[in-house]
Amino acid sequence: MPFQFERSWRNEELDALRDTAVRFIESEMQPQDEEARKRGHVGHALWRRAGELGLLCTDIPEAYGGGGGDFRHEAVIHEEMARRGLTGMSNSVHSIVAHYFLNHGTEAQKRRYLPAMARGELVGAIAMTEPGAGSDLQGIRTRAVRDGDGYVIDGSKTFITNGYLAGVILVVCKTDPSQGARGTSILIVETKDREGFKVGRVLDKMGMKAQDTSELFFDGVRVPAANLLGGQEGQGFFQLMSDLPYERLIIGLAAVACMEGAYGATLAYVRERKAFGRPIAEMQNTKFKLAEVATQIMVGRAFIDRCVEQIVAGTLDTATASMAKLWGSEAQGRVLDELVQLHGGYGFMNEYMVTRMYADARVQRIYGGTSEIMKEVIARAL
Ligand SMILES: Cc1cc2nc3c(=O)[nH]c(=O)nc-3n(C[C@H](O)[C@H](O)[C@H](O)COP(=O)(O)OP(=O)(O)OC[C@H]3O[C@@H](n4cnc5c(N)ncnc54)[C@H](O)[C@@H]3O)c2cc1C
Repeated sequence: MPFQFERSWRNEELDALRDTAVRFIESEMQPQDEEARKRGHVGHALWRRAGELGLLCTDIPEAYGGGGGDFRHEAVIHEEMARRGLTGMSNSVHSIVAHYFLNHGTEAQKRRYLPAMARGELVGAIAMTEPGAGSDLQGIRTRAVRDGDGYVIDGSKTFITNGYLAGVILVVCKTDPSQGARGTSILIVETKDREGFKVGRVLDKMGMKAQDTSELFFDGVRVPAANLLGGQEGQGFFQLMSDLPYERLIIGLAAVACMEGAYGATLAYVRERKAFGRPIAEMQNTKFKLAEVATQIMVGRAFIDRCVEQIVAGTLDTATASMAKLWGSEAQGRVLDELVQLHGGYGFMNEYMVTRMYADARVQRIYGGTSEIMKEVIARAL
């Protein structure tokens, strides 16, 4: 970065992890990104390679096969991918799923799933959204009915990140439709050879082309009773609510890192590109736009870094995490729009990173709870 900002939480160990992440991203992920965008997924081999290098589940205890770190370890990896506009491998959703197991799973569930997820052998997904219900999760219709020593799941989900490659999916179901929030449970579905389970098409999206976002269908899918997350019915909603700060902070953090990457690329571009006999970097409008963007990045980093410290200390509340998601994703949208403009026609060409980042950024205001829902959550805490 052409301007410096000392991260309050960095240390030598995290720098070393950042170096490993950058080497993996630049030598193994980036060269495959164009193919992954055409295919609609990054493939299993990349996940396993990330696992081999210790880049998955870095904040899961070593006893469960993870890296034994904390949120900062995850942050380093999310940032380096976001900075390079690489959104194909959603290790953020993977980590969110790992946290559901860690925070709410039974001991047997933790032991069964976390080590395999850390190795990249099982890709994780979480399936809440349905064709008829997204923001209003109480409106979901997927049912899990107790039958003997298991549950039978019927329903469908859509827009599920990692849906195509997932080996383990946390499926949010109604176990008692008469009970509202208390009638919701999370069932663990292992996808391999699972009768009645079908992955629909990899959805054709505006951006995040390398990310496998899919529809999922459950037609009488039977899972053992031991696959109820945490072992107690009716806990699904509370399990979902308690993990929201983690998910929302990742989105805010990635937003700032994406802005940084796009800013750096744009600065280089405007210094090269000439119009009216001089680099466009010398025009007052360009300087002012970049000054505004640099200021937003600095302000955003300060807030996000404070949130990182709070989540590590266990004090980040849902409203503050929602502010990180709301501000980060909205600022990212505004900033990417300005940076595309500074690229002129090239800013409309997918071969340019800022162009892809612009398209990818749009969903940051929608998934993980829309901006409108973030405002509702923040307003409730006022
Ligand atoms: C690329 C991508 C990846 C995704 N990954 C996942 C995933 O891994 N797992 C998963 O379960 N889901 C996932 N989603 C789904 C995502 O979380 C939902 O799309 C999102 O929560 C919004 O739900 P919806 O699409 O049903 O929109 P709706 O809920 O139908 O919202 C439509 C509009 O109404 C507004 N609105 C709704 N309620 C209110 C309110 N109370 N006040 C004001 N405005 C309101 C919304 O803000 C929005 O503008 C993903 C979506 C995308 C696009």
